[in-house]
Amino acid sequence: MYVMILGAPGSGKGTQGKILAGHLGIPQVSTGDLLRAAVKAGTPLGKQAQGYMDKGLLVPDEVIIGLIREILDSDTGRGGVLMDGFPRTVAQAEAVDRILGEKGNRVDHVALLEVDEQELVQRLLARAAKEGRSDDNLESIERRLRVFHEQTEPLLAYYETQGVVRRVAGMGDIDAIQQRLRVAVAG
Ligand code: AMP
Repeated sequence: MYVMILGAPGSGKGTQGKILAGHLGIPQVSTGDLLRAAVKAGTPLGKQAQGYMDKGLLVPDEVIIGLIREILDSDTGRGGVLMDGFPRTVAQAEAVDRILGEKGNRVDHVALLEVDEQELVQRLLARAAKEGRSDDNLESIERRLRVFHEQTEPLLAYYETQGVVRRVAGMGDIDAIQQRLRVAVAG
């Protein structure tokens, strides 16, 4: 099964994705986590990505698509994956369709976590105080929200035509959100 979790920064993709991947018995792949690890390790990928990440901009498609291809070609990706934070552009969505299609697979579900904008900013500022992520400052948060609306939301129209979009209310209790997600990807 190939499941994508989409949502604005702060919508809970990582938290919910981790629990859902465990429930479904498939690995969770977070492009954000992979990129942060690469930055920390000082790899060429990390060096390429850091400037974009700190500014709250998307890392270029070809870099991300290369990363995803590697994962989907590896043992980790063969039996299904839950992706969080990917795809974020139409070009990425088209690329993953192509890569999965080469192996006779497809995207089964795209779950969209919907959270009010005010709540998103509050959550991200709270995370900034707790985790100290370098892109959780107000300027970067505002840019990431704008990037989400401008570059990632158009993906919904792309996936709507495939009939795979599942909208999930992402406000409130973590367990309740998880239950809604499970129902959404069960069909
Ligand atoms: P996230 O942890 O998903 O919020 O991602 C943190 C940052 O990593 C984003 O603001 C982007 O700079 C970068 N990033 C993560 N995933 C992607 C992606 N699929 N495409 C482009 N940039 C990404």
